Amino acid sequence: METFDHIIIGGGIVGLSIAYHLARNSPDSILVLERNELASAASSKAAGLILQATTKPSKTPLVKLTRETIALLEQELGEPVGFHDVGSLRIAASDARVKELETIEHDASRHGIAFEHLSQQDLHDKAPWLDASTANRITFFPTDGYVDPYLLSTAYGRAARKGGVQIRTRTEVNDLIIESGRVTGVNSTSGNIFGGSVIDAAGAWASIISAHAGFPLPMAPTRSHYWITAPEIAYGGEFPVVLLPECQAYMRPEVGAMVVGVQEQHSATFDARRLPDDINTFSPTQGEEHWDVIADAMEAISVFFPAISQARFANYVSGLSTYTPDGGILLGPVPGPVPGAANFFAAAGCCGSGIALSAGIGSAISSIVRGDKPQFDITSFAPNRFGPVDPFSDEFQTRCAAARASKSHAALAK
Ligand SMILES: Cc1cc2nc3c(=O)[nH]c(=O)nc-3n(C[C@H](O)[C@H](O)[C@H](O)COP(=O)(O)OP(=O)(O)OC[C@H]3O[C@@H](n4cnc5c(N)ncnc54)[C@H](O)[C@@H]3O)c2cc1C
Repeated sequence: METFDHIIIGGGIVGLSIAYHLARNSPDSILVLERNELASAASSKAAGLILQATTKPSKTPLVKLTRETIALLEQELGEPVGFHDVGSLRIAASDARVKELETIEHDASRHGIAFEHLSQQDLHDKAPWLDASTANRITFFPTDGYVDPYLLSTAYGRAARKGGVQIRTRTEVNDLIIESGRVTGVNSTSGNIFGGSVIDAAGAWASIISAHAGFPLPMAPTRSHYWITAPEIAYGGEFPVVLLPECQAYMRPEVGAMVVGVQEQHSATFDARRLPDDINTFSPTQGEEHWDVIADAMEAISVFFPAISQARFANYVSGLSTYTPDGGILLGPVPGPVPGAANFFAAAGCCGSGIALSAGIGSAISSIVRGDKPQFDITSFAPNRFGPVDPFSDEFQTRCAAARASKSHAALAK
């Protein structure tokens, strides 16, 4: 009979970060089970933005830890993990967005995250293709940036392996083993495996795993996507990540070209039970509809980035994030058949920020599964905070899509 102290289901960035943090903080035996290849689902699709202060202050310390952990991983592995130390620029024009930016700056100050206000000339020096003549506040956060999400995910994996973690790919979890109302292990394609704790980090499929314990996690797989321009000298150099909250859009460099992301008003959501096991065989975007999304956003974006109207778009990337109705993650013990039998945990519902949150989630879960207090307040992330819901219903998925649509605004700030 195989037994480990901790079994982690899912070898995306979240599962691998949890494994890394557990190995770093304890002598425990740890197993990661991944049914495909490591980081082959959402974690390899991400735009990789690492923005520490946002409209969701409860997440700030978790992202800040990721930013710090990147340096630590580079030291431990002796090689870069693909982080681009370019900072981020936030540009606000309307009163509402200026107020929001002030709140974000206040949050940054509380956490010791540096920022400075830029003049039009400073902005021109950093991103000459931007026209911020309508802006009333321009703030630069020098320690933000973007990362290659696949490299960071696999860096956690390599560091975890160095720390003794066993990682098995091509091994699927079919069911949870439940004894006397407690989750005591998993039934997998390599047989029954028992664990002191079992952690559900199965990304878009996490609700299906937790449903085996009678509590499908309250989140919905939701489409996230971005476009990549053809290489272009005018805006193809290295520049900070640019956030344009007025039009819910962002830009970042991409080897001589530019990534442009847009939060659409009506995001597509999916029933997790109908997703294929390998997301690479599935497109959350049908037909040409994604070109309509960027075309609709073009006029608003061109106020700040006039050259976008002439941009040639060479590539489109789409994938599934997972959203909750309040835009907060799902982190902590999963309520099981026996109240208080806290040995089954969730690390899911990352709301399009799982790369940025990865070290924070890994650190928090590695504390709570060992009965320690996490270094952050994670009470607002409790998986049972929505009460009994049917996460597979249309009504619930619509609530999650709305959270995605207003992600960059403070309405859902937690
Ligand atoms: C287009 C796009 C852009 C994004 N941009 C950003 C960004 O800029 N910044 C940011 O922070 N985040 C971004 N995200 C979100 C980020 O990618 C996710 O939040 C993050 O990757 C989630 O990681 P994960 O490990 O939870 O999920 P995943 O990477 O999906 O990993 C889950 C794993 O679980 C495995 N699994 C599932 N079921 C089982 C089973 N039964 N048995 C064994 N294994 C199983 C799957 O095969 C998968 O590999 C973006 C996402 C998309 C799609």
